[in-house]
Amino acid sequence: MSLVVMKFGGTSVGNVERIRNVAQRCARVRREGHDVVVIVSAMAGETNRLLARAHEFGEIPDPREMDALAATGEQVTAALTALALQQQGVAARSLLGHQVRILTDDAFTKARIRAIDDTRITEVTRQGAVCVVAGFQGVDDAGNITTLGRGGSDTSAVAIAAAIDADVCEIYTDVDGVYTTDPNVSPAARKIPRITYEEMLELASLGAKVLQIRSVEIAMKYGVPIHVRSSFSDAEGTIVTSEDKFSRADMEAMTIAGVAYDKNEAKLTLTGVEDMPGVVAKVFGALAEKHVSVDMIIQNVATGGAGLTDVTFTVTKADLARAKAVINDVGPKVGMKGLLVDDQVVKVSIVGLGMRSHAGIAAKMFQLLAAEGINIQAISTSEIKVSCLMAAKYTELAVRALHTGFGLDAATVKEESA
Ligand code: ADP
Ligand code: ASP
Ligand code: MG
Repeated sequence: MSLVVMKFGGTSVGNVERIRNVAQRCARVRREGHDVVVIVSAMAGETNRLLARAHEFGEIPDPREMDALAATGEQVTAALTALALQQQGVAARSLLGHQVRILTDDAFTKARIRAIDDTRITEVTRQGAVCVVAGFQGVDDAGNITTLGRGGSDTSAVAIAAAIDADVCEIYTDVDGVYTTDPNVSPAARKIPRITYEEMLELASLGAKVLQIRSVEIAMKYGVPIHVRSSFSDAEGTIVTSEDKFSRADMEAMTIAGVAYDKNEAKLTLTGVEDMPGVVAKVFGALAEKHVSVDMIIQNVATGGAGLTDVTFTVTKADLARAKAVINDVGPKVGMKGLLVDDQVVKVSIVGLGMRSHAGIAAKMFQLLAAEGINIQAISTSEIKVSCLMAAKYTELAVRALHTGFGLDAATVKEESA
């Protein structure tokens, strides 16, 4: 008998019929004799609908109330899933984040989990019932409802799996595993049977929303094996696990694990700021104070006048309104002449542990993009990834060119191994 965490995303619980299917799947595992803890997301589209309603009351609604509102999506599916299980003759009880006591910090809309009390979940499973937990939500020290950032039910699932020492955390979604790139963008995408935490972490942080970044961080820290699979078929999915579970030959064969893209960023350029010590410290200090996370940064010499420079950076679209407000406040203090905003950009990235031992990967990426006539607006690199910012209209073209150019297409791989 094992202890299994099963998480179902928005599409998987998208309507009553699908919730019945989810319950059937969970009931099967329970009847096989395993202890089951289920984590559910809100129905597909529901969180967007709720947040849009909040925005009817202002451009930057109070984040505490946004969380109180957004958390209701998961409350509905948790109760419905418990009811569906009961209808199938399986004892089940739902719990909300604050009832479990998933304690988080108070950074509303992107709270981080601090601790999980396993008492109530364990109580439910000990009584032989399936425990259904509402994903995405927690509670802070002061008793306020918090949410864990978009896609946060993955993080709820992995963190709960770590807290109750589950044997596996299964993430059920609308694709049957992690692919070399988004299968909804490139038909040539190939399923990856096993991937390391490090590579998955990069892919997730660079836009592969199949797993939320934080969930992979927690899995890596606590050694929780993740199995990404489809809610709609019994196909073998993708196992996300540690590098030491891979053979040397496995590692050497893989240069690039995958291509990711992120359309969720916006680019801001402060033009004509003073080129002197302390300027960027002031700008980015002010952004940090307002909890705006900055991703790519470039500072270049302005062509206009001596002693002046442009500073460009990217933030998530969700933070754009706040970032603009901060810059409009701090800009005049550093002599800013103007602020340019472009939210029609995409960050396209390649990821792979193999980059550590292969030279020339970045150069090859730039050549492949140049061959398609794509202009690169910003670049960032790490040991195992290269990211390029470009106009959003190039997303599909860039992803496909890189996927083919780095030999990831399903057909190419078959030919190579034939
Ligand atoms: P859920 O609602 O189940 O949490 P998400 O929409 O958050 O599902 O994540 C699944 C989606 O992630 C897929 O439909 C797919 O479009 C997207 N995706 C992006 N990159 C990848 C990738 N490399 N492999 C698989 N899916 C990916
Ligand atoms: N419902 C939340 C969202 O749409 C959390 C999740 O689905 O993981 O972001
Ligand atoms: Mg998701």
